[in-house]
Parts: sequence; structure tokens; C-alpha cells
Amino acid sequence: MNQEIITKAIVIKSVNYKDNDKILTLLTPEHGKISASLRGANKPQAKLKFAGQLFCFAEFCLVQYGNNKTVKTATEIESFFDVAKDFEKLSIGSSLLEISDKITKEGENCYLVFLNTLKALQTLVFSSTSPKMVLTKYMLEVFRICGYELIMDRCKSCGAKFNNNIFMNIETGAFVCKLCKTDECMAVSLGAFNIMKLVSNTDYLNLSSIKAHSHHLDEILVLLNANFTGKFDIIIKSLKNI
Ligand SMILES: [Zn+2]
Repeated sequence: MNQEIITKAIVIKSVNYKDNDKILTLLTPEHGKISASLRGANKPQAKLKFAGQLFCFAEFCLVQYGNNKTVKTATEIESFFDVAKDFEKLSIGSSLLEISDKITKEGENCYLVFLNTLKALQTLVFSSTSPKMVLTKYMLEVFRICGYELIMDRCKSCGAKFNNNIFMNIETGAFVCKLCKTDECMAVSLGAFNIMKLVSNTDYLNLSSIKAHSHHLDEILVLLNANFTGKFDIIIKSLKNI
């Protein structure tokens, strides 16, 4: 008998394959990132159509055939499909999924990335938190999980306390003062810096209590995106629309 794997998973990528099938990329808590085919997903009457959609969060039963896995059944756990009703949420949600895919590899543990992605999706879909703030929190947590936590207490170079003049080294993510800034540094406004610090220290559940101007969140996302590219050498395509 072929081996079966039962796992919770979020569908983070879904690509059409042959006439009616899809190849899914699943982010799971215990089995890392998995590719699996979903047969007949594009047929009009397909029972498991929902399982082939991005953002699907379900318990999957996968069957192993040689090197390939196929979805046998799936039961939805929580629906995030309402994300598609709001353009900004959909666009931010797509960025969350794209980032989760880019920073994980098949065969490696991705429990913390799974958890962070799940919390971010729940906050994005079910709370009144600004979508841009959810993405800010998500990216800060991704840096932390990958060992690149942003240190915002003092100048990374000289240890001085920050006043109004704060700069970020886009390559390294280090925050430095005016005296220590180099050519790779971008200025950060005090407003954006304080919001970033607050978001970093607040749980997803409490983010909605933070008041932030949209232009500060835009400024933060430009910085984090540039820093993301500097650290991971990856460009997040969907972030261009934000
Ligand atoms: Zn300094």
C-alpha cells in the first residue's frame, strides 16, 4: 500500500498542469513545504476544487506514488477566501504567500514560517488591522525567524541612542545614526521608525490597536522590501503593486 500523509497545510502556490490537474505547493507545520498534484481540479464538478485555490487552509490526505504526492482528500479548516473580496487584502495576501514560498525549501523544517503565515492570514482576513501593517509584521517576523532580526534600540555601529536622524543600511538591515551612515543607507522618518518598533513588539492579535498613517506604512514597506532583497537576494514580484 502506498504511504499516506495526513497534514494541515496552506496552499501557497497553485499551477495548472495538463488539462485538468493542478500542482500545489503546500506549507505544512510538520512536513515542511510539499509539492502535490491535485487531479481533476479544473473539472467543473470537481469536489476538491477549493483545495486547488490559493489561501486554502485544510487538512490534506496525500498519497505517495514513487517521488510524487497526490491529494486524496482535503477538509477545509478555516476559510481565507474572503481575502479576494478586497483588492488591497488580496494583494497583501499574495505577497505573504509569495514570501513564504521564497524563504522555504522542500525537505526543511518550516514550522515557524507556517505559524507566522497562518497568524498573518487570520489577522488580514478577520481583523480590522490595516493590511499594510499585517505585511509589516509578517516581514519583521520573517527576518526574526531567518536570523536577521532588526535591532531598533540603538545605533548598530556606535551604540548611540537615536534622535531624529535615523538611517537604515539596506544591505544589512542595521539601523544607524547620522554619524555612522554610509552610502548604502536610506533615511527613515521618526514616525515610520516608531511604528516599525511598535509593530515588531506587538502580537498579531493586538495590531489593530496601533494607529499608523498609511504613508508611514508605505515608507516602512519600501525599506523592508529593499532590505529583503539585500538579505535574501530575492525580489517579491507581488510587492511591486503595493
Ligand atoms: Zn552611530
